[in-house]
Amino acid sequence: MGSFKLGKMTLGSIFKKPETIQYPAQTRFAPEGLKGHVVNDIDACILCGICMKRCPTGAITVDKPAGTWAIDRFRCVQCGSCVRECPKACLHMDPAYTPPATKKSVDVVSKETATDGKIAAKEAE
Ligand code: SF4
Ligand code: SF4
Repeated sequence: MGSFKLGKMTLGSIFKKPETIQYPAQTRFAPEGLKGHVVNDIDACILCGICMKRCPTGAITVDKPAGTWAIDRFRCVQCGSCVRECPKACLHMDPAYTPPATKKSVDVVSKETATDGKIAAKEAE
C-alpha cells in the first residue's frame, strides 16, 4: 500500500509545475513586509555617522573625510534601526532580496560618485 502511494506521488510530480525556481535567473516576487536591504540616497546623506553608531551589528561604516558610506550586507540583520534614526531620512529598506554573491564584499557609496549613481564594491578584510 505504501509503495503504491509513493508511486502515485512520483508519477504525479512528473506532470506538476516544479516547486523550485532557477534562482538567480528567476526570482520570486517580494512578499508584503519583506524588509529587503538598506539603501542610502547618498546625495541627501550628510555623513553624520548616527546610523553607524546605532547599528547593533556594526554593519555600517561612515568615513566623513573620505566622503563614503559603506554597508557590509553579510552583517546586516535588517533591523531597520539605521533607517529610523537617520536625521535626513535618506535611508530606506528596499523590499527586494539582496543579490547573490560569490565573495564577501562591502557596498560603498561615495559623495563624489553619487551623481553617477555608481556603487563601488570592495572586498571585505
Ligand atoms: S544617519 Fe543618515 S545622514 Fe547620517 S550618515 Fe547615516 S545615512 Fe547619512
Ligand atoms: S538594518 Fe539594522 S543591522 Fe542593518 S545596517 Fe541598519 S541598523 Fe545595521
